[in-house]
Amino acid sequence: MNDPRIRRIVIVGGGTAGWMAAALLAKALGAGVAIRLVESAEIGTVGVGEATIPQIRHINRFLGIDEDDMLRAVHGTYKLGVQLNGFGRLGDSYLHAFGDLGLPLGLTPFHHYWLRSRSRADAPDLWAYSLNAAAAAENRFAPLESVPGSPIGGIRYAYHFDASRYAQYLREHIAPGAVQRIEGKVVDVRLRAGDGFIESLQLDNGEIVEGDFFIDCSGFRGLLIEGALNTGYENWQHWLPCDRALAVASAPGGPMRPYTQASARTAGWQWRIPLRHRVGNGHVYCSRFISDDEAAAQLLANLETEALGDPRPLRFVTGMRNQAWNRNCLALGLAAGFMEPLESTSIHLVQSGINRLLAMFPDRHCEQQLVDEYNRQTRFEYERVRDFLILHYKATERTDTPFWQQCGAMDIPPALAHRIELFRRTGMIFREADELFTESGWVQVLLGQRIEPDRHHPLADALTAEQLDGFLADIRTLVGRAKNTLPPHHEFVARAAGSLAA
Ligand code: FAD
Repeated sequence: MNDPRIRRIVIVGGGTAGWMAAALLAKALGAGVAIRLVESAEIGTVGVGEATIPQIRHINRFLGIDEDDMLRAVHGTYKLGVQLNGFGRLGDSYLHAFGDLGLPLGLTPFHHYWLRSRSRADAPDLWAYSLNAAAAAENRFAPLESVPGSPIGGIRYAYHFDASRYAQYLREHIAPGAVQRIEGKVVDVRLRAGDGFIESLQLDNGEIVEGDFFIDCSGFRGLLIEGALNTGYENWQHWLPCDRALAVASAPGGPMRPYTQASARTAGWQWRIPLRHRVGNGHVYCSRFISDDEAAAQLLANLETEALGDPRPLRFVTGMRNQAWNRNCLALGLAAGFMEPLESTSIHLVQSGINRLLAMFPDRHCEQQLVDEYNRQTRFEYERVRDFLILHYKATERTDTPFWQQCGAMDIPPALAHRIELFRRTGMIFREADELFTESGWVQVLLGQRIEPDRHHPLADALTAEQLDGFLADIRTLVGRAKNTLPPHHEFVARAAGSLAA
């Protein structure tokens, strides 16, 4: 290797992961690196994945994408959080809202002031201090980045969209010539003698595609990372037991809610995601506890509008690849792992995988230290997301079905058990390094799942009772005023779509 620099990247797969990787790498690496993407129309993409989290907006900024234009193309709406129904007890409902809760005072997080106040019977609930939650409760939305003249944070939002169209949009947005698309099916992967690095791919038409670095975006099959490199997969089904999904679109109708709905069912949960032209629905379930026919019947019985076709089945195994990066191959998207869509994290994990690759961009040697560091950081990120998801199942008081009984009784990872106990005893929660979910996300889910702290932070006692009342009332007033400035979500969407005068 005279020049060790990477000059040729080959991406296998043209789903959301593949085209996100292509768009971001083409923009970041420029003309010095040739990028080719192989995809097979015959195999197709997974074709689901309609809810996102706010970090996706960084991609738009980086790629110079106009949000309105993109959302028109992908039939997008806005998302302020996830409403979780029936997870703690039957009939329970809470929002995991993006964004801030109240205001911290000094170093003491806001929720401790709220915990102190709530011994009073008439105390408003925690979500009265979240602008996102207040807007969601009235189906309002506007991209209010900050609240003028007020210390409370603005709206923090993500999108609901048609993920296949998003991949297509990214593809069209790539500068002409920056990525070469190759239609074809990979039928063989050739490894170099000695170090086992991937050397080339063979396509069904006989074409050989050589590269210095390969990105496996081939979906659940993990064609390179598993098929060729036998990297191994860590199975998390004992913690995240759902293993199948049925997805079906239904006719538009009803309120255009600016949030995803996740409603617990007897052996899993059902999503409802409003897009501009239809509603996306799906039932994620555990096949050990319910048959496919029963799962389909539950899904269809709980649609708000008429189904636009038959439910489409999907199967998966929750977990992660033992190493997302192995030799000169990096897996992204479903090829790297899947943790089920309850908190809409998959597309984000693709994005952070690409960011991490760019931060650690290798040369053709792919030094083992670099690879190990990438894998260490990826594992940390995945395990923290995993623990957040497990919390939704573990912290249940439901015993009405065998599935929920098993969830409530399961052993959980020690780090999560520690977090729950720390919160229960002290009300404290700490976000480590740059793990994905914030303290306010954890607090909402812990409280939403009925984990009640024994006490609040002693520093929250520094205010007198009158000062505390005044502080909380001021925040509620600011939240209420800011919320009243927001238009109905459907009106904002129609305006952004250009079908309503501004
Ligand atoms: P795929 O879409 O499966 O793409 C694989 C690509 O590889 C295709 O282009 C295929 O043609 C190509 N390919 C495969 N084999 C070959 C071959 N031999 N030769 C050539 N090409 C090949 N994510 C979210 O962020 N939010 C959600 O709400 C969400 N909901 C989900 C719900 C369910 C039920 C499931 C299963 C997933 C959900 N996801 C969600 C995940 C999301 O769909 C995926 O993370 C995302 O679409 C990325 O998929 P992918 O590109 O990795 O794989």
